[in-house]
Amino acid sequence: MKTNQFMELALDEARAAGARGEVPIGAVVVLDGTVIASSGNRTRELNDITAHAEVAAIRMACEALGQERLTGADLYVTLEPCTMCAAAISFARIRRLYYGAEDPKGGGVDSGVRFYAQPTCHHAPEVYSGMSEVQAAEILRGFFQGKRD
Ligand SMILES: [Zn+2]
Repeated sequence: MKTNQFMELALDEARAAGARGEVPIGAVVVLDGTVIASSGNRTRELNDITAHAEVAAIRMACEALGQERLTGADLYVTLEPCTMCAAAISFARIRRLYYGAEDPKGGGVDSGVRFYAQPTCHHAPEVYSGMSEVQAAEILRGFFQGKRD
C-alpha cells in the first residue's frame, strides 16, 4: 500500500499548516476506520514548541474520546516523528504508526535515538514508513525553498 485516504488527509493538514506559516507536517488519528482527529503543526499559532502535528492530533483525539490513551488507534503523519512525538505516540498506546518521509536529521523512530527499540520504551507501535513519502517530502522542500527565496 503506497497511500490511502488517511495519509491524504494528513498531507492536506501539512499543506494547510504551511499556508499558516507553520512547518508543513500533518497528522491524523484513526480509530476503527474513523478519523478521530487531524492537525498540522501549531507551534507558532499556540506559542507552544510541543504542538507538533502528532502531539496536537493526539491531544484532540484524547479530548474527543474523553480518555488519556488511544489504545487501538492508528496515527498517520507525513514525516518521521521526532523523539518527543515518538514518545507521545508510545505513551498514547497507538497501535500502528504510518509515516511518510524519513527524517534523518530530526527523526526518532528509524533515525536518531530509535525510541521504540530502546529498553525504556514500554509500548512500541507497529511502524510502516514510506507512505506518500514523495508528496510529503515535496511539501516540506517547497516550504523551506520558499523561506529562502
Ligand atoms: Zn515531533
